[in-house]
This record gives sequence, C-alpha cells and structure tokens, in this order.
Amino acid sequence: MSFYVDGLNFSCIRCSSCCRHESGFVFLSEKDLLSLERALSLLRPQFIALYCRWVRSGSLQLLSLKEKSNYDCIFWKDACSVYHARPLQCRSFPFWESILSSSDTWEAATLSCPGIGSGRHYSVAEIDAWIKKQDDAILIEKVVSHW
Ligand code: SF4
Ligand code: SF4
Repeated sequence: MSFYVDGLNFSCIRCSSCCRHESGFVFLSEKDLLSLERALSLLRPQFIALYCRWVRSGSLQLLSLKEKSNYDCIFWKDACSVYHARPLQCRSFPFWESILSSSDTWEAATLSCPGIGSGRHYSVAEIDAWIKKQDDAILIEKVVSHW
C-alpha cells in the first residue's frame, strides 16, 4: 500500500528553486515539443537548435531543455516564460515516481521544495492521474550513433 492513501498536500509558492541555480534535466515528450514549438512559433529544427540538448541515457539520447551558464532553465526569465506550454515534467512536479516511492523520498523533497506538504490537497486519484500521464508520455529519443 502506498504511503499516500489519504492523499498529499502541495501548493507551489513560486520560489523558483526548481527552475534555477542547479543543473538538471527537463526531458521532453512529443506532446511537450509540439506545445513549445507552437507557443514560440518555431519549426522543430529551430526549436531544438535554440533550446534543447541531447542527453545520453544508455544506448539512447533523450531530448532535454538547455540550461544557461548559471544553471537556470533556458526558459527562466523572472518566471517561466513558457508557463502555459511548460513540459509535463514541470507540470507534474512533485508527483513523480521517484519522489512518491516512499514517505522518506517525499519528506526529503520538502528540503528543496517548500511547497511540498502544505496547501492544496491532492487525492490518490489525482496523484495517480499525474503518474499515468508521465507513464504514457513518449519521450523524444534517438539511438546513439557509434563511429
Ligand atoms: S521548488 Fe516547489 S515551491 Fe518552489 S517553484 Fe518549484 S514547485 Fe514551486
Ligand atoms: S520550462 Fe519553465 S517550469 Fe520548466 S524548468 Fe523551465 S522555467 Fe521551470
């Protein structure tokens, strides 16, 4: 039985710490890419060249957003500049399997996100719906080429 049978509380207080100052990956699905391309009126090759990087994962490379030299997300400009088209990985936080794997991982996440554990109540059904969306997402990937 999961530790969150009674649901969990979370409200983003917009401290921005999950978008800034620390290196990390924001992996993109096909749906994410389409939303961002539309929001910025860019064709895919332009969008990828400007805002994305390929990240090695085993024999694959996954498409992630770029970071600035200070590790802020490439779309951080006093706030998320693509908020309405932000990727599922951003929208679904903190309802990620890695954070929900135990009460300890949930508690540990409160150290970096002050919104976790207070504010809006999410039912198990709502939390599971976020997990399902992530499971259903098809990440953009390509096979690593060997020279
Ligand atoms: S770290 Fe948490 S509270 Fe701060 S912006 Fe991110 S989700 Fe919101
Ligand atoms: S896309 Fe927006 S919400 Fe996601 S990490 Fe970048 S700035 Fe933050």
